[in-house]
Amino acid sequence: MPSGGVVLPLRSRMTPIVGIDLGTTNSLVAICDDKGPRIIPDAQGRPLLPSVVRYEVRGEREVAVARGYEARAHAPDDPANTISSVKRLMGRSVADAAPDLPFLSYSVVAGDHNTARVALRRGGSPEAEPVVLSPQEVSAEILRALREQASRALGTEVTKAVITVPAYFDDAQRQATRDAGRIAGLEVVRIVPEPTAAALAYGLGLKAAAAQRPPGSTPSPPSTPSTIAVFDLGGGTFDISILKLTGGDTDIFQVLATAGDTHLGGDDVDNLVVNLLLSDPGLSHRRGTLTPAELSGLKLAAERAKCELSEREQTAIDLPSGPTRTLTRAELESLITPWVDRALDICGRALRDAARQLDITPEALKDTLDAVIMVGGSTRIPLIRRRVGEFFGRAPYTALDPDQVVALGAAVQAGILSGTVKGALLLDVIPLSLGIETAGGAVAKIIFRNSTVPARATEMFSTSVDGQTSIKLHILQGEREMVEDCRSLGTFHLRGLPPMPAGIPQVEVEFLVDANGVLNVSAHERRSGRRAQLQVIPNHGLTREEVARMEADSLTHARDDMTRHRIADLIVNSKLDIKWIGERLAKYESKLDPDYAADLKAQLAALRSRIESAERDWKSVDPDEFYRAKNALDQSSIRLQEVGISESLRNRPGA
Ligand code: AMP
Repeated sequence: MPSGGVVLPLRSRMTPIVGIDLGTTNSLVAICDDKGPRIIPDAQGRPLLPSVVRYEVRGEREVAVARGYEARAHAPDDPANTISSVKRLMGRSVADAAPDLPFLSYSVVAGDHNTARVALRRGGSPEAEPVVLSPQEVSAEILRALREQASRALGTEVTKAVITVPAYFDDAQRQATRDAGRIAGLEVVRIVPEPTAAALAYGLGLKAAAAQRPPGSTPSPPSTPSTIAVFDLGGGTFDISILKLTGGDTDIFQVLATAGDTHLGGDDVDNLVVNLLLSDPGLSHRRGTLTPAELSGLKLAAERAKCELSEREQTAIDLPSGPTRTLTRAELESLITPWVDRALDICGRALRDAARQLDITPEALKDTLDAVIMVGGSTRIPLIRRRVGEFFGRAPYTALDPDQVVALGAAVQAGILSGTVKGALLLDVIPLSLGIETAGGAVAKIIFRNSTVPARATEMFSTSVDGQTSIKLHILQGEREMVEDCRSLGTFHLRGLPPMPAGIPQVEVEFLVDANGVLNVSAHERRSGRRAQLQVIPNHGLTREEVARMEADSLTHARDDMTRHRIADLIVNSKLDIKWIGERLAKYESKLDPDYAADLKAQLAALRSRIESAERDWKSVDPDEFYRAKNALDQSSIRLQEVGISESLRNRPGA
């Protein structure tokens, strides 16, 4: 048992569940008891733990020699073995992480399934064989430090945690976070999206504030549904989420929509300021000749100036080997206006998605919005607060510390799960639709984007070929209509089916997404009772950029995609019709009027050639004409069906 440090009394005698904000730059741990959520500081009283681990390679293996502040302070001594921002690599392939690699001081190599791994350097030598670590192991060091911090402070071993992740983290990234917890000796009882955690902290904050007021003096927390936006702008990433909070005896939080950008944050502002300083007459002659140390000094000065301008109208910056330059807030604001516009464009997208969920216009949603909660250090910038206020038509809510709000919310969720917080329920959504490949390469969506989790949906399918004894189920994620435009999550087979004619088997496919966003797919053929199932844990899931691109593509290609999907379905169904009608025509032709039989043959031939054209180039066929031709054949074949039925009745034994 660790000893020493600050001891906080824990009222509940149950095993505590802590809330952890596992951040890219900083991490925090918090606990919630009957007095509400609070941050657990380290032995020195510091609330934040820098998400940095420093390793040394000793013999065959690595040893974590420093974590947090100590690791960060000594980073310049051994940048290749000091691991920061590892969250950007969690559950991702080397290709996924490529945009981040230039910003990392250490090497990243490909592991199994091309996953991104951290390569530590032996004795500082670039030639020696590196020691390779998974991002999960590095994150586990940070979680271990937080776990020790909490165990020491609470006076009891902490073994359970709720951990937050960005709303856009896909299955693989969530799974990696869960694995990091397990490596650190923590049972991760729930993964919660960061904005949802912020909304939880906000909801509970309102309740606490109301409880402290004399009865009836001021408004109490909302008991009718309210809508909340969480605007999260940190150092490197931006996220916006719109949630619905239904108050009353039980608070229900439901995420309506999320959007964001993994490369939009305070770092961009620092770079803009550095560029401005480099174009200054006092420094422009040195552009390109500054030493790395001078450049990193300039970047630090730029960040400091930016933070000061959140409090003051102007500040002075010392330029390397030269004069001092004054930077005004007005100058900074005009510099960062396009950057603010980018964030607000993304807000517009989330607002439109959420409005669609509620079946109202974005303008109406803005009017009914109850609060805009500010999260992340960059929301301290006055221009951000002003523009966000103008955009949403109300002053943003800034009463919660933007650095702590996510960890506090994670602790509230931990409190809900452990029973210390009564009467609240958390509902999250699926970021991209989930579906299955159908004949012809189209995708049948089974669970739609922004559905609340846990979500369950079933759909009936059948076979397209006679005598099929096995069905391949291909699971896909995305908004487009065709397989090649969606992301493949995995395939499995339902085998051992008794041979049956095409279209006869009844396969019920069930999609189940649990509260952590993990997808389980099962298939059940009703006639034979055969079952198969798959838990979808992709090698590396979707990147945020892919999600954003897929969303944008689905809008651009919506009309084409729909047409293509329709034609793919028409081809499959027409082939089944041709086969069925052709077989019966061959069997009963002698019983038919010759003109009728000739007409059916002509229609069959015309439909066949239409299918051939569609298979050569789907754009060359008009789906409406195609549909009319198939439908006309179906109608014409009714007479043939009748003849078939009466013939088979006549030929029945004993008829
Ligand atoms: P986070 O990722 O939430 O820890 O946010 C870190 C970012 O917030 C960094 O880019 C900081 O420079 C920025 N930041 C912190 N405090 C301020 C401030 N007072 N004014 C402007 N930006 C700030």
